Amino acid sequence: MKVMVIGAGAAGYFSAIHRKINVPTDEVILVEKSDRGLGKVKVSGGGRCNVTHACFDARQLSEYYPRGGKALIGPFQRFQPRDTIQWFEDRGVPLKIEADGRVFPVSNSSQSIIDALETEASGRGVDTWTRTDVQRIETHPAGGFSVHITPDFITHCDRIILATGSSRMGYSFAKSLGHTILDPVPSLFTFKINDDALTEIPGVAVSDAVVTVSGTRQWKQRGPVLVTHWGFSGPATLKISAWAARDFAGSQYSLPLTINWLPNYRLDDVEAAITDRQMESKQWVRSRPLVSEIPGRLWNYLVTKALGIGDLPWNETGKRHRGALVEVLTRDRYMISGKGVFKDEFVTCGGVALNEVDFRTMESKRCPGLYFAGEILDIDGVTGGFNFQNAWTTAYIAASDAPK
Ligand SMILES: Cc1cc2nc3c(=O)[nH]c(=O)nc-3n(C[C@H](O)[C@H](O)[C@H](O)COP(=O)(O)OP(=O)(O)OC[C@H]3O[C@@H](n4cnc5c(N)ncnc54)[C@H](O)[C@@H]3O)c2cc1C
Repeated sequence: MKVMVIGAGAAGYFSAIHRKINVPTDEVILVEKSDRGLGKVKVSGGGRCNVTHACFDARQLSEYYPRGGKALIGPFQRFQPRDTIQWFEDRGVPLKIEADGRVFPVSNSSQSIIDALETEASGRGVDTWTRTDVQRIETHPAGGFSVHITPDFITHCDRIILATGSSRMGYSFAKSLGHTILDPVPSLFTFKINDDALTEIPGVAVSDAVVTVSGTRQWKQRGPVLVTHWGFSGPATLKISAWAARDFAGSQYSLPLTINWLPNYRLDDVEAAITDRQMESKQWVRSRPLVSEIPGRLWNYLVTKALGIGDLPWNETGKRHRGALVEVLTRDRYMISGKGVFKDEFVTCGGVALNEVDFRTMESKRCPGLYFAGEILDIDGVTGGFNFQNAWTTAYIAASDAPK
């Protein structure tokens, strides 16, 4: 059988290699429009490549995918992060698990991952065609596919694994072969906030906050929040950008945001802590944060937001001040005015509709012989290695289907 894998990213390489492992007699051609392929792997995870996440239960893992999680439960039972770790370690790339569960090569260099994939592909006899920009794919009346590369270079193959990521061309191939494409929109971004006083305290981080965005529904995430030069970043912000990606796109990235900076405290406890200070302290309000969880610069910013620019001794503040402080500490309100870039990871929400793909094989239900792997599908995960895991898993399965 002649199998063409279109797109030499993580999913393309992995499916080409596994096709050769499963059926060594197949002719496997990996087609890539750029000079080398694996461009996103190279820049991923800030150049370190967050290759997967240390979550080894298929159901639990599926919960990290705002889109596609349910469809991936079955596939994860066949190829999951434990298999990914084993795969790279077997090929001489030791990996390490960081405290937050992200998995990286011990070398801290994405090049180790690239080298392993390239060596394995060439060693298994995958034929890689770089600088080959596929223009069109058609089904052939006699069976199989015609792949148009230039007007006078059209090649024929029996099977196609489409692994073109979030490229427009890839979506157009899928569409021309009968598939529905859910509108691609960005996921994993930071929030722009027009508030000079906030953006003057970049680098301030709170390790545990609850972030709520009000779109078509209330999206809530808990975790670290980071103040940046343009607004907010950090894991809780990025997670909510992924879950609410469609709402954000629909609103032109303008949605109300509320932050509870003290999710570990009951409202009564926050009020009581303020009342204690009011009754006992002659200290200035700004001089010391109410609780150790709030860094000094953030406390100063929140006090200004609640009480205005000046300062007061605690014992001269009253009920009105207490109410305003409770509000900024537990229901701090902002308006998001745009999206910023998160340079460590980025992914597209949208792609090939999942109900048109058989997840036991990754074969199209619309066009026999056509398979999908990776980000071209309407699957995306939150930040942390989940997007590459989708690529490895779906590629592994797309390469496993037996000849018919
Ligand atoms: C900056 C950045 C950092 C990231 N970091 C991480 C991370 O650390 N961990 C993580 O899990 N995820 C990360 N991601 C997401 C992850 O990179 C993607 O989810 C993953 O690369 C998708 O793999 P893929 O093979 O499906 O698509 P891609 O990697 O996009 O590969 C598709 C390939 O197809 C080729 N192609 C497209 N059209 C054609 C055509 N017509 N003809 C021939 N070739 C074509 C493209 O040139 C490309 O090489 C990051 C993404 C970005 C942008």
